[in-house]
Amino acid sequence: MTVFDHVTPPPARGARPAHPAPGGSRPAVLGGEPAFPEGLPLTVVRVPDSDAALRRIRGALDSGQLTNGPLVAELEEAVAELVGVEHVVAVASCTAGLMLTLQALGARGPVVMPSFSFSATAHAAAWVGGRPVFAEIEPASLTLDPADAAARLADAADTDGTADGSGALMATHVYGTPCRVEELEAVAGSAGVPLVYDAAHALGSRRAGRPVGGFGTAEVFSMSPTKVAVAGEGGLVTTRDAELARTLRIARNYGNPGDYDCLFPGLNARMSELHAAVGLGALPGLPERVAHRGALADAFAERVAGVPGLRLPRVAPGDVSTHKDLTLVLDADAFGLSARQLAAGLRAEGVDTRRYFHPPVHRQRAYAHLGQADGLPLTDRLADSVLTVPLWSQMHAGTVRRIADAVLRLHAHAAEVRAAGVPAAG
Ligand SMILES: *Cc1c(COP(=O)(O)O)cnc(C)c1O
Repeated sequence: MTVFDHVTPPPARGARPAHPAPGGSRPAVLGGEPAFPEGLPLTVVRVPDSDAALRRIRGALDSGQLTNGPLVAELEEAVAELVGVEHVVAVASCTAGLMLTLQALGARGPVVMPSFSFSATAHAAAWVGGRPVFAEIEPASLTLDPADAAARLADAADTDGTADGSGALMATHVYGTPCRVEELEAVAGSAGVPLVYDAAHALGSRRAGRPVGGFGTAEVFSMSPTKVAVAGEGGLVTTRDAELARTLRIARNYGNPGDYDCLFPGLNARMSELHAAVGLGALPGLPERVAHRGALADAFAERVAGVPGLRLPRVAPGDVSTHKDLTLVLDADAFGLSARQLAAGLRAEGVDTRRYFHPPVHRQRAYAHLGQADGLPLTDRLADSVLTVPLWSQMHAGTVRRIADAVLRLHAHAAEVRAAGVPAAG
């Protein structure tokens, strides 16, 4: 079985790429002209309404109220409106938001989550005394596989006896691709555990028309610099649970309910007024930016259509992804190059890439003690096959097509690129 078996029909015998390698020129790694001699970064951060951000920062500085002020409240209201959810609690980071949410939900037992995510998903559980239990993702969408999550929850309940409700289920809307929220809700419901989404990538995503932010027990967004809407640093917890929101407001303030008689060990995880000012400047036009990113991803997909062994993660029809990242999924045998080899080829073209998410969390040193290294063969294979290429909100379609053309050129010269000696694995 390959990572493609569930996904795309194999290309017809003798099928050729829809677009021949442009100009027949050679890849830079083989001595050709680089596609981007000036270099192409993975992302370019911009706050669309920077004038408004500066006005608000000036106002905060003049008032002297740099924390616990009106701008954080204004940001919380704006996001509540945007995602259509009752309660939004702004925090210092998504990581802190995940930590405080899991703490409030009493997740001190097994916390089932995808290994194919950013490390902070697991760190949050570990910090509150939970035990990460990694589950597989679906090959097509790269989001958590509800059936595997259910099996691992049941296993964990057998071994840890979690009838005390100390477990939890976490899922990540990877790259902004909405998870199968209906199935995950059913899985969490029948296991009797809360469901927390790592929605770091997904401010502006929609599942069957409904905004991400309203699913599960809580969802946690990030406004850190590589995300689609940035505050410099920052996170946002959204929930319909008034009691949870109340606890989180206390938790982000050291656990102090206001009388200095702390209820539990909280954090200083407040978002500052200065960060809220920047975050407010990042919200205008978000739906349009998300739509543009989707159009760029479509333009890329169209350009590489028909190339064997190359696909993009599937976003279900009717869903909207933020495309926080434009990640390619490669079948090295069919494409001719592994993710690592393509990365080396693109580096020579001036194109910055990352391997989001490689190594997967269960392979990272921080979690070696859990003994789950060999328990996720599908995740291992998929993590080996991903490569993230540049995408940002104000990128032109011509740029994304030039990236695609560089990929096509490397594919067309795959045998020579392999012979040039980039190791396939690692
Ligand atoms: C960036 C990211 C986080 C962490 O967000 P911070 O705001 O930087 O703490 C968590 N999960 C995922 C999937 C991320 O990409």
